[in-house]
Amino acid sequence: MKTLFIGGMDTETNSFSPLPTGRAQFALAFGDGTSRPLNSCSAQLAVWRRMAGAQGLMVHEGLCAVAEPGGFIPRAVYEDLRDRLLDGIARARPAMILLALHGAALAHGYDDVEGDLLERARTLAGPDTFLGATLDPHCHLTDRMVGAADALVLYKEYPHTDIDDTAADLFAIGIRTLRGTARPVMATWDCRMIASYPTQNQPMRGFVDAMRAAERDTPGVLSVSLAHGFAHADVPDVGAKMLVIADKSRTVARATAEHFGRRFYALRNQVTPRFLDLEAAMERIAAHPGGRSPLVLADTGDNPGGGAAGDATFMVHAALARGLENIAFAMFWDPVVVEICMAAGVGARLDMRLGGKCGPQSGYPVDLAGARVRAIGTAMRQRFGSVELPMGNAVWLEAHGLNLIVNDLRTQVFDPVCMTALGLDLGTQRAVVVKSLNHFAALFAPVAGDIIHVATPGTTSVRYGDIPYTRRSPDYWPRLADPLGTGAS
Ligand SMILES: [Zn+2]
Repeated sequence: MKTLFIGGMDTETNSFSPLPTGRAQFALAFGDGTSRPLNSCSAQLAVWRRMAGAQGLMVHEGLCAVAEPGGFIPRAVYEDLRDRLLDGIARARPAMILLALHGAALAHGYDDVEGDLLERARTLAGPDTFLGATLDPHCHLTDRMVGAADALVLYKEYPHTDIDDTAADLFAIGIRTLRGTARPVMATWDCRMIASYPTQNQPMRGFVDAMRAAERDTPGVLSVSLAHGFAHADVPDVGAKMLVIADKSRTVARATAEHFGRRFYALRNQVTPRFLDLEAAMERIAAHPGGRSPLVLADTGDNPGGGAAGDATFMVHAALARGLENIAFAMFWDPVVVEICMAAGVGARLDMRLGGKCGPQSGYPVDLAGARVRAIGTAMRQRFGSVELPMGNAVWLEAHGLNLIVNDLRTQVFDPVCMTALGLDLGTQRAVVVKSLNHFAALFAPVAGDIIHVATPGTTSVRYGDIPYTRRSPDYWPRLADPLGTGAS
């Protein structure tokens, strides 16, 4: 009976983040990730386990390590996790290795963590073992990664609502390779673009649908992926790339990657959201009539899902300066405030200093006079795709006509439940401000009067043309209007 090895390592490193991603930041499972509550990494291992059962493969499950995006992983922490994962592979002697990775992890001494991991896995397993990985589209797709793996398949949707489907797609390519009915070859095409590309709106929606159609209808094409790239990392490979897996033919892989790459590049001025500055966003809130459908505004510069602290105060200060009321904010990562509120209890009135603690990119703290503790929740969870993720303890503070949700486990906002579970009725609010870039959109769209992306300052600033790269050449859009020189805008 052939053996399938499954494992995962999933974090995204913001090289501008003030928060190290140490061992304590990882949720670790040593071979039992699929028998615990699933996260978006272990959920993929569970998919592979199910599919392997149907194919008569024996499964050896290894390390599954997941951390919220943050700053660099200390070298010793990464090397220990990597070596544990590789030990599992060495012991399993598998015919197929499937890894759930992110593709944008950085450790001190390693600016291509996944390239390092895949190369070592290849060396260990030999050339005849199928080595495949899923990646988040917010990855740096490097030649090392592509060179070491047989197949890399990326989620297509942003918000990432297709993670389990992506795992299944990779498994299908792996099993065909194992059975000798396919021989995957990969090719990439550099789009020379750095931005963010939500897929729920046109024209990205149509682009993703076209990638799926090509997988279904184009002879010889096994998989089409777009690496969006993760802008907040000062590495040589940061940026968007197309990736195509063809069956046997490098020519087909290359031609298809270039076809889709050029098509994506031609859409560059339409595929990224229109970001409002802080002033314009406040004007939109002031003009919104309220009612049952609040405006939902993304505080994009302070997205914990991209490695930011989650304690930036720019939007609260702006709302207070204008005397705006009935705005809900979620979620400030401020464990000290949570601890004080939990000690005081529901109903307490406190003078509270909130946020602004992690550096200049967090802004100044907000002093809230006579803030009322409206509700406290413990060990709360929020939905993201097929899984429920922990969000720690949370409190609802009311002050100056604003409603502020504060928690003690740093995470972006995915789900209105982070407010509604505390009793806050979003229908009573003129606006809801969430710390996220786009993942919130899947579950907030049904309750939103409109969704607005705000270009706030911070660790995950969306002013992509101004990111102070030192290791990436500056020949990319939007720093240049037309870096490929196609002549079209
Ligand atoms: Zn992502």
